[in-house]
Amino acid sequence: MKILVSACLLGENCKYSGSNNKNDSVIALGDKHTLIPICPECFGGLAIPRPPAEIRNGKVYNKLGDDVTEHFEDGAEKALYVAEEKGCRLAVLKERSPSCGFGEIYDGTFTGNTVRGNGITAQLLYDNGIKIFGESKLKQLEEYIEDTE
Ligand code: SF4
Repeated sequence: MKILVSACLLGENCKYSGSNNKNDSVIALGDKHTLIPICPECFGGLAIPRPPAEIRNGKVYNKLGDDVTEHFEDGAEKALYVAEEKGCRLAVLKERSPSCGFGEIYDGTFTGNTVRGNGITAQLLYDNGIKIFGESKLKQLEEYIEDTE
């Protein structure tokens, strides 16, 4: 199975802070599956490091107050292109991120609070039929794969 994966979960230092969200359980998926890393914020031309950003009223603003929505949308389109090019129907994406979060995202106040919602890339992938799991939902991912094989 080919699975699209947030690159920061694989240990890539692409996070806004210049570090990563390395997750050994996500990396271990690579023993059985082909993992295709993506970082939509990097695809969208944002630098590493960069100011953190969150979604507010459907737009993405960084902590300095700049509207960075276009970068996020551009990165989402490129992530979808990679998914389609590689034939990925599944994705494991970083939870709560304004790009990769699915079902729950930070609320735009930079306080760590969350609201229901999807990151810009997660929404586009979902709209195009890609099944998304957060890094805490790997059991559900394995069950889903078993059911569909
Ligand atoms: Fe990780 Fe996604 Fe943020 Fe890139 S855009 S650092 S892959 S959560």
